[in-house]
Amino acid sequence: MSDNQLRLVWIYPDLLSTYGDQGNALVVERRARQRGLDVARLDVRSDQPIPTSGDIYLIGGGEDRPQRLAAERLRRDGHLHRAVENGAIVFSVCAGYQILGHEFINDLGQREPGLGLLDVVSVRGEGERCVGDVLADIDPQLGLPPLTGFENHQGVTHLGPTARPLARVQIGKGNGTGDGTEGAYNGTVFGTYMHGPVLARNPLIADLLLKLALDVNALPPIDDRWYEALRNERIAAAQQPA
Ligand code: GLN
Repeated sequence: MSDNQLRLVWIYPDLLSTYGDQGNALVVERRARQRGLDVARLDVRSDQPIPTSGDIYLIGGGEDRPQRLAAERLRRDGHLHRAVENGAIVFSVCAGYQILGHEFINDLGQREPGLGLLDVVSVRGEGERCVGDVLADIDPQLGLPPLTGFENHQGVTHLGPTARPLARVQIGKGNGTGDGTEGAYNGTVFGTYMHGPVLARNPLIADLLLKLALDVNALPPIDDRWYEALRNERIAAAQQPA
């Protein structure tokens, strides 16, 4: 961070914002402002270059064709790689998560190269689409309460040796491999299958991104009663028998 300003970059809202992904940008922005930080939010469309000077990058979910277009443009652009080399934090959701891996299956049924920022490979699941509420225990190393969210994906994601699972599911499919893992992270690059404004349901993940960006261990507490009520409601919904 420079000039005491947090630069938050939302990647390709024109292609990857199918599931209310703007909510993630709003949550990070708001929680940073509540801590007195000055935030510059940059929404970067797919015909614009990705800035390399961002502190936190968000990339959302999308349907199969926009996902392929986004992957092509991000590969051509190349700047996200540079940003990560400079220490940027990336949080990705579903289609965005698959794009950050080594490869995924595109809308034409072909293997599409990803950015290789996460040591994961996504294939097309042979079974039913993974759809529904999820409750998962986040990697204890990250010190966060359980992840709650909603998944909707056909892809199945296998973790390579250097990726750590973001969480292990109690309810739901997560990466869909049957090993109980959900999402992945490599250093400061995170991916999850939890949709859309997952940070509204898991605001302490937004705080983790802020702590990494600010290089601090703690942030001033804020009133999270509203978030807690939402979390409890969604956890109860996930626990309802289908
Ligand atoms: N096209 C991908 C899949 O189905 C991602 C979909 C999404 O973002 N929901 O696996």
